[in-house]
Amino acid sequence: MAASPPAIEVVADPAVLRAAVLAARADGRRVGFVPTMGALHAGHLALVARAAAECDLVAASIFVNPTQFGPGEDFERYPRPVVADLEALAGAGVRWVFAPPVAAIYPPGHATRIVVDGPAVGFEGAVRPGHFSGVATVVCRLLLAVPADAAYFGAKDWQQTLVVKRMVCDLGLPVEVVVCPTVREPDGLALSSRNAYLSAADRRRAVALQESLALAAEMWLTEAPLAVIEAAMRDRLEAGGVAVDYAAIVAADSLESVTAGSAAVALVAGRLGSTRLIDNRLLPPRGEAGR
Ligand code: AMP
Repeated sequence: MAASPPAIEVVADPAVLRAAVLAARADGRRVGFVPTMGALHAGHLALVARAAAECDLVAASIFVNPTQFGPGEDFERYPRPVVADLEALAGAGVRWVFAPPVAAIYPPGHATRIVVDGPAVGFEGAVRPGHFSGVATVVCRLLLAVPADAAYFGAKDWQQTLVVKRMVCDLGLPVEVVVCPTVREPDGLALSSRNAYLSAADRRRAVALQESLALAAEMWLTEAPLAVIEAAMRDRLEAGGVAVDYAAIVAADSLESVTAGSAAVALVAGRLGSTRLIDNRLLPPRGEAGR
């Protein structure tokens, strides 16, 4: 009878986990890492499944990172269903869960932050000042604790994937960044831990994000100028009751203006009640930039 795989281990100490991951890699095992803030849903578990398919061992982290929340944002009320999360990760075959206390990530007196320019400017970076600095800092710190072969991120947070890739490249971090497709509800709403905040009425309205992106994809295939498409995206969101933060089409790899032949991404973000939602859709290159 084959030996059963080792049970899931919850590790709070970064040094302990780093040693375990390095030992596994020295043993020839490929390690995948899925950073999360918990409140896990099928989107997170798809990242874990991809990591498990591509790696011998998977580590996931659960850490609600205070530095990526702005004043007045939902850090305090962010859902923390720890037991359910650990059960889900155990069921998905995760070997290690890194669940550090805040002081293990931000030691007393901490004074170091990573600031990313380029893809971190604009969009979420403009609406949430300091957000991507918090993200870059924590991802770097998490990657030091979990020195994996590959780290898995969701395309749902498209700008975040660009920021992480930029930081990994600029700091020469020895990890492969893998971006996985967005997992959606049957009506197209991207799964998000924040969807749980939505009232029943706002949940119905939230389909406007997906509809706005579908409209963008449809119009993108025509010769419609970008400004016309962006206005239509915004109209669709507003008709659905969304207070729009942005609705834009930009180059997928830089978030700068679309140029002829570059792959593009449609980005939307806005608020329904007190809940902030973001989504995006990749668009194929089209012959001419229409702006
Ligand atoms: P979070 O817990 O929100 O920080 O997300 C952790 C990771 O899961 C990030 O890489 C997200 O982009 C990814 N993620 C969140 N929602 C989804 C989704 N619906 N589909 C795929 N990945 C997702």
